[in-house]
Amino acid sequence: MPLTNDIPAPGLPPTIYDHIELLDCTPHPDKLAWTYPCPCGDLFTITLQELQHGTEIATCPSCSLVIQIIWEEEDIDEMKEEQKAQEMERQEKSNMVDGNGTREEICA
Ligand SMILES: [Zn+2]
Repeated sequence: MPLTNDIPAPGLPPTIYDHIELLDCTPHPDKLAWTYPCPCGDLFTITLQELQHGTEIATCPSCSLVIQIIWEEEDIDEMKEEQKAQEMERQEKSNMVDGNGTREEICA
């Protein structure tokens, strides 16, 4: 009978399943997040906020696997633009309501 010694001991922190480049993840500008398919069928998710706060670990909501995201500042530029656009939209909406927001010049 073959012995298997790759069963993780309980209580250990999750092992990093893989290292994935952010560019290989699917961007979701509406959610300001990226996803990457997990072998269990669900999706690893990492948000722009998490990356900006130094979190590079994406977790799968359905199993205990985690992946480490490899990224560079320029990889999140597009998502940051999206974040700005969404904030601007929100401000514009609140401007219409209370009219005391400030509007900044947009340099194209
Ligand atoms: Zn999973």
